[in-house]
Amino acid sequence: MKSIAVFCGSSEGSSSIYKESALQLGQELAQNQITLIYGGANVGLMGMVADAVLNHGGSVIGVLPQFLQNREIAHPSLTELIMVESMHERKAKMAELADGFIALPGGPGTLEEYFEIFTWGQLGLHQKPCGLLNINHYFDPLISMFDTMERNQFMQAKYRAMVITDETPEGMLKQFSVYEAPSVKSYLTEERT
Ligand code: AMP
Repeated sequence: MKSIAVFCGSSEGSSSIYKESALQLGQELAQNQITLIYGGANVGLMGMVADAVLNHGGSVIGVLPQFLQNREIAHPSLTELIMVESMHERKAKMAELADGFIALPGGPGTLEEYFEIFTWGQLGLHQKPCGLLNINHYFDPLISMFDTMERNQFMQAKYRAMVITDETPEGMLKQFSVYEAPSVKSYLTEERT
């Protein structure tokens, strides 16, 4: 795996645990020579994960829409900063560049990015792993919602199995290394399992 996109909060969160997890993830990526693909901003957990990768000698590619340049403040020392026109272009570029996707704790923007890429996987548009780094039990309610979806037959078991969760960056990368995407024959005609 050469590159991983990280989705995370443009805020720092209420506890230093979140900041520490961003730093750990950045360090782990750099030590494994995995390029960080992220939103390009210098704020919140986004800025911290980028700083951690750079401080450990790794590479970081940021993808930032022009209109967010002032609000989220472009990180000044990335390996590469790609400016795009829209949020849609940003997500498409990040999806193209990354071999896998990890969400750290964050707000609605983080979840939007995670869900879009997860559902693209469900539709068979890519075969890349999508993980929730469950720091401080932050994603427990979301994981429980996925269980509710499966129990109520709004999500097939094979797609529920695509929800990769781990409490450490190291464990997440191990899971990514053995990930196999489910087979998607035709979304409209396949039999429900
Ligand atoms: P948040 O998790 O809300 O702090 O947002 C984290 C990142 O997600 C920020 O870089 C936001 O610009 C980005 N974001 C917010 N809304 C969207 C969206 N609809 N599509 C893509 N990225 C978004």
